[in-house]
Amino acid sequence: MPSIRLLGGPRSGSYSSFIRQAQSRPPAPASSRHPLTVRALKEVRTRREENVPGDVYVDHTCIDCDTCRWMAPSVFGRVGDMSAVTRQPATPEERQRALEATISCPTFSIHMPRQSPEETAQLMSSFPLPITGCRDVFHCGHHAESTFGGASYFIRRPDGNILVDSPRWSPTLAARLEALGGVDTIFLTHRDDVGDHARWAARFGAKRVLHRREMNARQGTDKVERPLDGTGPWSLGEGLTVYLTPGHTEGHAVLFYAPDAALLAGDHLFLSRRLGRLAISITHNWYSLPRQLESVAELVDLPVRHVLPGHGRPMHFASADEYRAAALEVLRCDGQWDDGSLRAVGGRTRELQV
Ligand code: SF4
Repeated sequence: MPSIRLLGGPRSGSYSSFIRQAQSRPPAPASSRHPLTVRALKEVRTRREENVPGDVYVDHTCIDCDTCRWMAPSVFGRVGDMSAVTRQPATPEERQRALEATISCPTFSIHMPRQSPEETAQLMSSFPLPITGCRDVFHCGHHAESTFGGASYFIRRPDGNILVDSPRWSPTLAARLEALGGVDTIFLTHRDDVGDHARWAARFGAKRVLHRREMNARQGTDKVERPLDGTGPWSLGEGLTVYLTPGHTEGHAVLFYAPDAALLAGDHLFLSRRLGRLAISITHNWYSLPRQLESVAELVDLPVRHVLPGHGRPMHFASADEYRAAALEVLRCDGQWDDGSLRAVGGRTRELQV
């Protein structure tokens, strides 16, 4: 039986510190802003040359979050280090997908010709969007720039609906969620993806759930109604289980929704574009890579069929065994196998059938 040895310890995270410092810095007073700022902003809002000719285009403010490319793959692609329109939408279906991506772009970088009132009404009524293979879990779209374009999800349940991480605040989306029964609970996977949590909570009188290690006054998450303490797992209701998955951050947690076999994974797991497989992010790890791998190992036996990440496209598996194999591949590739056991940080060792 092969094994994995996990190397290293918690990282100091210099990039993480930089981001935190930048986010906590107050905005410059208007009087001190450079007079060229407005002109510069207009210039970055111009069409990228990499777009194919046509009415739909991406401007220079794209942050390369990948959202449009997985929501409308026949229209958007990565050209250079940003998105561009690689084919103009040619069918009503393609136009609908492109419009949904336009609404979901966190930086409003996609430009489409003005829609008719009927098209706008149809577009807004399509949110939240269905997810392949899921009955109750939907994609909210409306990604927020403050979460670097993180995805959020809506779970419709008879015992109270759940919002998983925060979409950009949108009164139109709020009206749609209201029509579907409102939001009873907002589960926040970790501090990076809390977005507009306070507005959503206030709008619906929802209880927010977040691990205490992720709470802080700067983001207003010190006021969440249901902090999680300890190591769990915790139940949020029938078929809803929260698992602590430290690694990306210290108090990161994921939600497993059993009726749809869906793992709402936050920044714990994602589909790597480069590797073409389930992966953890090594470059965006703020706490501990070895601990994150251990968290992956702890959930290999969950009967998962759909991994719905905070960043990037959903990943679907034909069976729980296929998910298990993909999770074990993460451990094989990102750790170091040696003598038949999984050695994780803290001296804990787990045997795994592979
Ligand atoms: S959704 Fe917007 S920010 Fe994200 S890759 Fe597309 S154009 Fe860029």
